[in-house]
Amino acid sequence: MQFVDQATVEVRSGSGGNGCVAFRREAHNPLGGPSGGDGGRGGDVIFEAQTRLSTLLDLRYRREIVAEDGEHGRGKDQYGKAGGDQLVAVPVGTQIFDAASGEMLVDLDHEGMRFTAAKGGAGGRGNMHFATPWLRAPRHAEPGGESVIRRLRVELKLIADVGVVGFPNVGKSTFIASVSKARPKIADYPFTTLVPNLGVASLGPDRSFVVADIPGIIEGASEGAGLGLRFLRHVERCRVLLHVIAPDHGEDREPFRDYDVLMRELATFDAHLSTRPMVVVLGKLDLPDSYEAVDDLKARFAERGITLLTMSAATHQGTHEVLIALERLLLANPIPIVEAPTVIAERALRAVPPHLETRDETEKD
Ligand code: GDP
Ligand code: MG
Repeated sequence: MQFVDQATVEVRSGSGGNGCVAFRREAHNPLGGPSGGDGGRGGDVIFEAQTRLSTLLDLRYRREIVAEDGEHGRGKDQYGKAGGDQLVAVPVGTQIFDAASGEMLVDLDHEGMRFTAAKGGAGGRGNMHFATPWLRAPRHAEPGGESVIRRLRVELKLIADVGVVGFPNVGKSTFIASVSKARPKIADYPFTTLVPNLGVASLGPDRSFVVADIPGIIEGASEGAGLGLRFLRHVERCRVLLHVIAPDHGEDREPFRDYDVLMRELATFDAHLSTRPMVVVLGKLDLPDSYEAVDDLKARFAERGITLLTMSAATHQGTHEVLIALERLLLANPIPIVEAPTVIAERALRAVPPHLETRDETEKD
């Protein structure tokens, strides 16, 4: 199951500054030579992979990424200043394509890996470089190199950072809708009727994460069908869980018991899941059934050492605090550094025992 975050951006490197044509005019040196300095080089647009990021959200709001132009050279042998580079931080795993041809330009698959998407123009040389014994007063200098403009498609296969779990109708989807800034595309999703509800939540620049609600966790799992298990398998990859409880009429249900039932369900599937860092929140706080139960529920959770948060996805009350709590847990549980498949394959090759290595018969002595 794969989610794809996508952004199309235009990048422009800085142009190089022009070289300068100038001559020395000094009282003590009346025949002063050429003194035009070089232009500075234009800035590059560079992408860098960083593990602390997990979405392309910030890139979606930056349609144009422009590096600085180099300054022109000046007289008195002065060089122009180089234009500043534009460094664009993206999550590890980001792939960059040429938007027009669709060709993949780079797969930024490890921390710190860089890709120069647009190289700045070179600075032009000033006329001070062109003096020769037979041409003492050169009247020409080089122009600066041009900037490069490219349209890029940037893609990232997302893994949900936060999995939202809870009984049906507690408000999981409503919560995701109320906090999300973007809806990534879902690629190759095998279950057309039960699509995970996915959103990118943001607490500010470079502070976004993916929240996914996997529908049918309880229904599927209790049926014992493969469907429920496959959903749970997705939840397995989330670093942090958000467990939503809410009062529900009619059925024989109560939030505190719901919590236990769901935790058992998770534990049955995978013991690790129930110990995953988790934020527990009581939803629908705008409803009397919910706010009247708050004190009692908070006390019962506190007995187990769990801080129960409260929110209303409908009025947005408390949802920001839930995001803050989730972010804190995510920061305390960083993304495991996964080695690129090629690295793993290389190591596997190196690990082949000597007696299994193929011999080159022709080189036998
Ligand atoms: P899910 O099955 O857990 O994804 O639950 P949904 O998000 O689909 O919500 C189930 C129902 O509860 C819908 O009718 C929502 O409008 C309602 N609901 C969700 N959140 C709130 C809330 O904060 N307050 C109120 N009053 N209703 C809510
Ligand atoms: Mg839902």
